Amino acid sequence: MKAIVKKNPALGLVIEERPIPQIGERDILIKIRKTSICGTDVHIYKWDEWAAKTLPLSSIIGHEFVGIVEKVGSKVVDFAPGDRVSGEGHLTCGHCRECKNGRRVLCPNTRGIGVNRDGCFAEYLSLPEENAFKIPNEIPDEIATIFDPLGNAVHTAFSTELVGKDVLITGAGPIGLMAIALAKKAGARTVVISDLNPYRLELAKKFQPSRIIDVSKESIGDAMKELDIQYGFDVSLEMSGSPQAFASLGEFTACGGEIMLLGILPAGAIINWHQVIFKMLKIKGIYGREIFRTWFQTLHLLQSGLDVTPVITHEFPMEEFEKGFEIMLSGNSGKVILDWTHL
Ligand SMILES: [Zn+2]
Ligand SMILES: [Zn+2]
Repeated sequence: MKAIVKKNPALGLVIEERPIPQIGERDILIKIRKTSICGTDVHIYKWDEWAAKTLPLSSIIGHEFVGIVEKVGSKVVDFAPGDRVSGEGHLTCGHCRECKNGRRVLCPNTRGIGVNRDGCFAEYLSLPEENAFKIPNEIPDEIATIFDPLGNAVHTAFSTELVGKDVLITGAGPIGLMAIALAKKAGARTVVISDLNPYRLELAKKFQPSRIIDVSKESIGDAMKELDIQYGFDVSLEMSGSPQAFASLGEFTACGGEIMLLGILPAGAIINWHQVIFKMLKIKGIYGREIFRTWFQTLHLLQSGLDVTPVITHEFPMEEFEKGFEIMLSGNSGKVILDWTHL
């Protein structure tokens, strides 16, 4: 089978011929239809410091996919050949306190497909049955392949109540953009998004937030005045990983407000702790998806009319993966999809 592999400790990836993976008795073999490129994959493509210390060379990368079950192990009960599936890329241990408590999202022994073991940028993927998720027919492949990042947005936005709230989203990358649609659907009073990338600010218009802020030209405070948000934002969703954006949340989040952190900040990022303490702000880190609570929420939101299709801006056949990574690196894209259906 063809697979996209991190071969050399330098910029880039290569297509390699690999054997179709073996499956264990509780695994399913999935014939991949579409995959999408994540920021994580771009780190691996660039081979930055994080990638170099995390990823074994010769790994097949990728963790966002949709495909068709081709074969199942002898002890698989919930899946059969022909089922259309996506899946949770975080493999949890099943034995630790958190797994036993039904909180797989907190498992300290989590391993990621396409990071700690072979991933889904290949014609076939072997996945434990317990990580697979059936996708109903009405959900198109392009949406099914982005359940993982959409799930990140759902997990973040729905970690708190948004009804009637003023919501600030910092960062108009794909997850921030999808969070606009979620906050609107959840009944927020205002949804404001900030970024400084012109392409992304333009793309944000398609999601019709209350206000789009170009922080290179204007301040979040100006937008608050315009929208008559007197007390600050009730909920701030940090989705940029920018230390400047994070630092500003102490000022612009309302007293008693909540700050959800999904963007991966540098370890030394700072906030004014006086603002956090005297305004009684709550800060919560968000990682991954609740397995499978977030997946069902995501599916049901889509089935009840959530539309995130404008976030998908490019699609290439898998052979042209380099075009996809280059456009991701330029910042001039939303989600980029790779197609494997012709193989
Ligand atoms: Zn991802
Ligand atoms: Zn565990």
